[in-house]
Formats: sequence, structure tokens, C-alpha cells
Amino acid sequence: MDAPLYLRPRVDPPLAALLADRPFLHSLVDALGSPLHVLLPEAVAENTARFRSVFRRHHLAGRVYFAHKANRSSALVRRLAAEDPAAVGVDVASLEELKHALGCGFTGDRIMATGPKDAAFLWLAARVGATVNLDSPGELERLSGLVRSHGLGRVAVLVRLSGFESADGHGGAGTRIVSRRSRFGTPVRDTQALLSALERNADAVEFTGAAYHLDTTGVEEKARALEQCVLFLDQCRARGLAPRALDVGGGFGVGYVAEAGEWERWTTALTEAVLGVRPPLTWRGHGYGLRNEGGTVRGAAALYPAYRPTAGPGYLDELLSLPAPALGRSSATLLLEHLHDLYIEPGRSLVDQCGLSLARVLDVRPADTDSGHHLVRLGMNAGDMSLEEHGVLVDPVLLPRGEAAAGDEAPAGVYLTGNLCLEGDLITRRLVFLPRLPQEGDLLAFANTAGYAMDFHAHHAQRQPIARTVAVERQGDSWRWCPDEDYWPITPLGGTTA
Ligand SMILES: *Cc1c(COP(=O)(O)O)cnc(C)c1O
Repeated sequence: MDAPLYLRPRVDPPLAALLADRPFLHSLVDALGSPLHVLLPEAVAENTARFRSVFRRHHLAGRVYFAHKANRSSALVRRLAAEDPAAVGVDVASLEELKHALGCGFTGDRIMATGPKDAAFLWLAARVGATVNLDSPGELERLSGLVRSHGLGRVAVLVRLSGFESADGHGGAGTRIVSRRSRFGTPVRDTQALLSALERNADAVEFTGAAYHLDTTGVEEKARALEQCVLFLDQCRARGLAPRALDVGGGFGVGYVAEAGEWERWTTALTEAVLGVRPPLTWRGHGYGLRNEGGTVRGAAALYPAYRPTAGPGYLDELLSLPAPALGRSSATLLLEHLHDLYIEPGRSLVDQCGLSLARVLDVRPADTDSGHHLVRLGMNAGDMSLEEHGVLVDPVLLPRGEAAAGDEAPAGVYLTGNLCLEGDLITRRLVFLPRLPQEGDLLAFANTAGYAMDFHAHHAQRQPIARTVAVERQGDSWRWCPDEDYWPITPLGGTTA
């Protein structure tokens, strides 16, 4: 068999301590079934503190808005509601997320409504005094109409911009490149019309700042967008408006794989496998977007950069430290000079290390006659733990039920299949190496799944059970748990016992 290629997860405390408590995790799945998601609300509070310390290092005021769409959990949102109201808010992208945030203890003034919005979402956001992050001039008109016709108070709004341009140093004089297209926001070239609309509707909306959210890992692209927003806000001030905040969105990223070397070896091997110079490392030679055209690899790997030397708060620090392309000073200095508050909307990175997903091993069988690999069928399907929908590749951690028999310790290459009668229901298309072949009844723990992987694609196909979610908290030498929906940020956990 080929040498095992691992992609072992980055696991920090307290997630590491939770993973180490095998009997506790087995008892949870025995009681609540497979699959099961486990959340650590304390970890989300710690992540918030790390982002806040980056604000402090750069002397910036502002707020961390959790992008709710990363996880449906009540426990996480309630835990965040208990944080300093001046420092922590929530970003909601649907009417239901808004209702949920309010029910979890967020007051309207700590809520940011983003994304495209229907009339009910706009009305409730306006009614409770949320800040509306406007997606388009049309949305501005609809919101203003609602405010007037329902006699609502003036609504604080940010305007989301997109289509940032930059002079391209390599493309010859006068060449302008536009950053990646987005369905969302108003292109910067259309801001004159937007400014007029803000002035025209000043009786209904209070313009408080500009926003962007770029779906990229490129920090230079974000620094460019930040600078262009600052320049736009200057124009607004010159016209007599009084903006005071810049919202740089989310996308600070998470490092999922612990070791750079493992990620490099695996991605190199994937390219070699696509070229056919080594055996496949994926189910049926899946190339994750790469293909072999006459001996050359084409296409781009549709994969999240799972090893990240800088992510989360460190990435924000890097963005704030980077010189603005035209003005030269650092992004943080620009914000300070203009007295702008900084808003951020981290989703994935705010729930880094906040949970894991468990699945019971139901069946183990040889994959075919000669590869030596096995198929491991889990009590879970690809909708329950949608890692690959978000491009995240990482090995699960094997939690054996009992002690392994002597001689069973050889690494085993396995394909992880789901509980649906569908050829395509694989938890990951990677050939995954485990320290030994799992047995029926063992658990596999997928670490660090709280960002998008837990419930984003959950469905009722075949009436298979949807994963339950529990919140856990360390208590002395053991753990306490409660259903996610019963968690409140009071002691004891769940708040049900006197
Ligand atoms: C999805 C989204 C976020 C969160 O993005 P992450 O990559 O999870 O940090 C923030 N803001 C907006 C507008 C979004 O759509």
C-alpha cells in the first residue's frame, strides 16, 4: 500500500480536551444518536476576545458582528449576546436569523441586517432599530418607503460597495482591473446615484457608513477595497453627510490542517494523481477541479486553503497593518485619521475551534479486491457534515469503542461513505488514512466543523435523522452538556437546575 498521506486537523484546547474524552463522546452518541454535533460556546467568546485585542492593538473602536449564517446554533448566539454590547453584535442575513438573534438576547441596536432583503425582513429590522446593510439603491428606496408608510423611526444604514477598481501596475498605463464580480452591493462606479438617493431619503434613513465583503483570501484586494471605501466616505462628508463606520465584512479564514508539510504533500500528490503518475488519492480519481489535458494539469483546485499560516484575528491584524495602495498609510491609520469605527463580520473564523461532529461507524468492508483500501460506512451523510461543499479537507479522529486488539495498529486507507442509497454520498472523496482500520461501533470525530459544515446543507432525504446539536462545557474533570436549544449563558450549563 502507498505511504499514508495525512491531513491531520489543527486542534487547540479546549477542543483538544474534548476530543481526548473518548468515553464522554461515546456516551453522548449512545444517548443522542449518530450523527451528532457538539459545540463549545466558551470558545466563541474566546475568539471574540482575540479579535477585540486586534482592535485594541490598532487603537480602533468598533464592533465584531458574528455572521450568523455560519452556524444555526442557539448556544453560540446566546453566548455572544452575553458579551459586552458595545463590542459584540450579530450579522443576520434572513428574517429567521433576525428573529432568532432577538430571541437569543440581542437588542436591535446590536444587529446588522445584511444580504438581499424582502419587505418583512426590512420591516422587522427597521422596527427593532437594527442597522441595515443596504445591498442596492433599490433596497434603499424600498426601506425608505416602508419607514414612511409605517411611521417608523429613521433607520441606520450602511451601503455595501463592490466592483472595486485598481490601476494595474503590470497591465500598462491606464489599464484598470476590477476586483472579482459580486452579486451583492453597489458597484463603486455607481456611487454618485447612490449618494443622491441617500440625500433624497435622509428623512427615512441615517447614513452611517460603507461596507464590503469580499469572498477571497487575498489581503491586498481587501486593503484596496478598504481604501476605496475610505475615499468614498470622504466624498460623502464633502457632500454634508456624516458617516462614521467602515464595515470590512468577513472572510478572515481558518487554518484547518495542523501541518504545512502535510498540506503541501497532499496537494502535490493530488496533482500527480490527476496526471496519472501515482495512484488516485480520491474516489474514482476525482480531481477537485483539476484535470489532465494531454499530460498537463489544467483547471483550478476548488479547495479551501486548509493550511493557513495566518487566519482569523491574525489575518485582520495583517489587513490593518498593510499600507493602502494609493495613500500609503496602513489601513488602521486611515481609519484612525478619519475617525471611522471598524466593523467586522467574521463567520467561519469566529467559530474556529468551537465544535466537532461525530459519526458512528456502521460497516467496514474491502473497497475492491486489490487496493487494500476499505469502505467505512458512517451513520451520517454528506448533508450532515458538508465539509466538501465548503472545500474543507481534513482527516477525522478515530475514537475506538474499546481497546484495539494487538496487531491491529497498521494505518488503513479508507473511503468514508454516508447513510444514503446514493453512489455519490461520500463524506469526503479523499482516501483518508486512519491509524488503524476502524471497527463497527467506533466513532469518527470531525474536528472544527462549527463554521458552515454542521447544518448548512442538512436535509431530510430518506427520512434519515438530522444531526442533533449539543452544547458542552468543562466542569472540573468532566463535561456537562445540554441540547443546543436549552443552552443559556448562565451557570449551571442549561440553567435548568437550581
Ligand atoms: C458570509 C458572509 C460573512 C461571513 O463570511 P466568513 O467567510 O464566514 O467570515 C460576512 N459578511 C457577509 C455579508 C457575508 O455574506
